[in-house]
Amino acid sequence: MGERDEHGPMPGSPFLERSVVSSFTSAESVSFTKVCAPATGKAAILNASSLHELLDCSVCISSMYPPIYQCLNGHTLCSSCKSRVQNRCPTCRHELGTIRCLALEKVAESVELPCRFQNLGCSEICPYYSKLKHESNCTYRPYDCPYAGSECPVKGDISALLLHLRDDHRVDMHNGCTFNHRYVKSNPQEVENATWMLTVFSCFGHHFCLHFEAFQMGTTPVYMAFLRFMGDENEAKNFSYSLEVGANGRKSIWQGFPRSIRDSHRKVRDSHDGLIIQRSMALFFSGGDHKELKLRVTGRIWREQ
Ligand SMILES: [Zn+2]
Ligand SMILES: [Zn+2]
Ligand SMILES: [Zn+2]
Ligand SMILES: [Zn+2]
Repeated sequence: MGERDEHGPMPGSPFLERSVVSSFTSAESVSFTKVCAPATGKAAILNASSLHELLDCSVCISSMYPPIYQCLNGHTLCSSCKSRVQNRCPTCRHELGTIRCLALEKVAESVELPCRFQNLGCSEICPYYSKLKHESNCTYRPYDCPYAGSECPVKGDISALLLHLRDDHRVDMHNGCTFNHRYVKSNPQEVENATWMLTVFSCFGHHFCLHFEAFQMGTTPVYMAFLRFMGDENEAKNFSYSLEVGANGRKSIWQGFPRSIRDSHRKVRDSHDGLIIQRSMALFFSGGDHKELKLRVTGRIWREQ
């Protein structure tokens, strides 16, 4: 009641003046008021989701974990925001100090919340403090876009990613479990800026990403082809694949398991888990005058057992 008068402006208006709180909207200030308000009995009837709102940092809106801080007037904020606001409460501009909000930290221990991927199929209910850990490993968490070559921020389930790859990255989509691809490059000397190609194959009711790229392995320019499975690690183990490249009666063969797209493109590449062809051999396979790279890569995907 009288509390707000003492502290000057209503929560809401002063936020907009500060850069750190640019994403702060009036909706969040409502939940914030609940924390700071004197006991009115309101807390007793808060349901789990209002309780969860109380545990959102008023500055960055993410969930707060110990140590949770508060200013002298009781405004709470997370530890990473605290370190950025230069000892001034973003809400009331008073000095911040290093006062922990132990009550809120304790309250959090009693909160249980559904996994944030509930809408994607997860039915897990997690204690507040172990929720993040579960979510970072949740089977239902969205996949990162498997496209390589640029840092694409898109995430989603497999069907959303397939549409995204086709429409936004113009990736070639093929049906079938065998393939025969020709990679042609007119200036094979330039491997430095990792060139890459992605093709998606659909078979056995699943999708597989065939990556082909050129990069520098140490000081050696190489080409590499490998397959990734669009699904999780456990399912990926049900499949095997082989890749073959060659010409003039010589060939290199690779056989392995597709890696899940949970493993980043770079991680698979750096673990050398695929068919690696040194440039000198690639040019040999290309025949001709070393001016052009022409590699024929054939492959097959099969289900184990
Ligand atoms: Zn924060
Ligand atoms: Zn304050
Ligand atoms: Zn989950
Ligand atoms: Zn993408």
